[in-house]
Amino acid sequence: MSLLDVQNLVVEFPGRKGTLRALDDVSFSIAPGEILGVVGESGAGKSLTGASIIGLLEPPGRIASGQILLNGERIDNLPNQKMRHIRGRRIGAIFQDPLTSLNPLYTVGRQLIETITTHLPLNAAQARDRAISLLKDTGIPAAEQRIDHYPHQFSGGMRQRVVIALALAAEPELIVADEPTTALDVSIQAQIITLLKNICRSRGAAVMLITHDMGVIAETCDRVAVMYAGRIAEIGPVHEVINHPAHPYTAGLMASIPDMQEERERLNQIDGAMPRLNAIPKGCAFNPRCQYAFDRCRVERPDLLPAGATQAACWLREDAAVAAGAIA
Ligand code: SF4
Ligand code: MG
Repeated sequence: MSLLDVQNLVVEFPGRKGTLRALDDVSFSIAPGEILGVVGESGAGKSLTGASIIGLLEPPGRIASGQILLNGERIDNLPNQKMRHIRGRRIGAIFQDPLTSLNPLYTVGRQLIETITTHLPLNAAQARDRAISLLKDTGIPAAEQRIDHYPHQFSGGMRQRVVIALALAAEPELIVADEPTTALDVSIQAQIITLLKNICRSRGAAVMLITHDMGVIAETCDRVAVMYAGRIAEIGPVHEVINHPAHPYTAGLMASIPDMQEERERLNQIDGAMPRLNAIPKGCAFNPRCQYAFDRCRVERPDLLPAGATQAACWLREDAAVAAGAIA
């Protein structure tokens, strides 16, 4: 059974000039302990998908239809208080900027202990021990002393380690991490990603890792969902998607991984930009940027179709023979 099921999720932003559809029929699941990457350019809907799951969609954004289930129970329609409990206890969140998750006025220990005692049956002393061991597990040196320090006394990388400890404090089943290293120094990004991966694996926590970096996905995830213009363009096991991209957009993203770029130079870079929400092209939203687009692509919108071990929303997938010649 899936841990998380996102089914036909539609998110809209009502406005004076009409309603903008930001997520359109997004469906995927995450198995217990699985690491799912969600990748795409900025504006693809990655963060909105994450925010919908943790119940932190910014108004006026709203879930217009579809549902989100955690262990088979709907969580998209819960009252705020219940959702707040789920967010601390069963789903942990990690954001780009560690300071959005930490209160600057409290020591990191106080914040950890508060989260632990709110959600787990531990007294203050036990919670402090647990907080120290969490800080150790996330690689904070001298955790016994550092626990009484304030967020500003930590470097950016150390602060994000504290946030990971905080997200894991109540033993959640799922961590939603939205660009957890984008704000950090390049030199420590890999360390933090490796930490996140290892610590979640060892605790059996599933992860939804949102990133624009296909390289991070390749090294971290079991499966990957590629998003484009509010929809999933391709989803499948990470090695399949990387080695045999079935959607032209995925193939273009692959060219953005530096290692793989050496010989191809910029040839495979995708020209153009992600469309704005108020100007999503008819048919396949990717068609103006797609070198394989044909008439049907400009009229009819493709849904996810089976494509080998992955699924891709591309009309080329209707004819595997065409696809094999056209993309790989
Ligand atoms: Fe390109 Fe058409 Fe496939 Fe869209 S459906 S990705 S435009 S070939
Ligand atoms: Mg984002």
